Amino acid sequence: LLQLYLPLNFLGSAYREIKYALTDMEDMFSLLSANAEIEDVPSAPDLNVGGGEVRFEDVTFAYDPRRPVLQNVSFTVPPGKSVAIVGASGAGKSTLSRLLFRFYDISGGSISIDGQNIQSVSQNSLRAAIGIVPQDTVLFNDSIYYNIAYGRPGASPSEIEQAARLAKIHDFVLGLPDGYDTVVGERGLKLSGGEKQRVAIARTILKAPAVLLFDEATSALDTHTEKEIQASLKDVATGRTSLVIAHRLSTVVDSDEILVLDNGRIKERGTHAILMAQAGLYAAMWKRQQEASEAEQSLEHTDTVD
Ligand code: ATP
Repeated sequence: LLQLYLPLNFLGSAYREIKYALTDMEDMFSLLSANAEIEDVPSAPDLNVGGGEVRFEDVTFAYDPRRPVLQNVSFTVPPGKSVAIVGASGAGKSTLSRLLFRFYDISGGSISIDGQNIQSVSQNSLRAAIGIVPQDTVLFNDSIYYNIAYGRPGASPSEIEQAARLAKIHDFVLGLPDGYDTVVGERGLKLSGGEKQRVAIARTILKAPAVLLFDEATSALDTHTEKEIQASLKDVATGRTSLVIAHRLSTVVDSDEILVLDNGRIKERGTHAILMAQAGLYAAMWKRQQEASEAEQSLEHTDTVD
């Protein structure tokens, strides 16, 4: 019986290993929303990255042809500048970032980086030029060290530590019993949403991309964590072209331009001051968020008094 049991037991653990690996792969693919149908044009050249100017011209897109998701969207992010995209849930904000990554091809208009249409260059070079800090970072079942180093394979330990310092995760890591060797992910230490985002920021700092795409977490982080993340992002974004998909308007106040998406169209655009003066959609969103955060604060205050 033992002879039968041992191999079965072994199979059981092999099965678990495979299952975990598959879970990770699924997470990766759903994260990337990878679309295998997108192909490079024959002998597509690599993207020649300069300052990282991002341009959407009259972009129209639909996941399902019967239902347009983006219509005639045009904007330019000049090299090193930052543009924020705000709008109600379902307005099409995350879709914009998927299109820049070319997970889908658009049905009208064009998207270019430094004057090169993203459909005419190799996808590898396109994705190498863009650093993404997604809403919900999926970590590999591996050490924190590996998870950060993934941003630039071959980076030295001191570069990894430097990136972790900038992302304000270094002290946290040193406080763990196994430090950088701590295994995270499904089978390891479960990091909080804010910690995971900081690992993703460290990864992106190492990658040092010309274009930075930040998809702000929808789930509320505590105020302190949120401030820290915003501060490290500000550092990463310095000198890079950045596109921020924002759910909290406090994130966008300093953006060079804010686009207000509504039902797949840009309804308002300008700086925070300009949009506030227009007293339109943005100003109304701002007012609602202010009221909500004041209500929250007075609740916190009541908690402390109690
Ligand atoms: P949120 O703030 O809730 O993240 P969003 O503004 O980022 O919303 P998108 O995720 O860009 O919105 O979605 C825009 C529209 O496209 C929504 O109506 C959504 O249902 C639809 N959509 C998104 N992804 C897909 C998909 N893979 N297939 C079909 N429709 C999709």
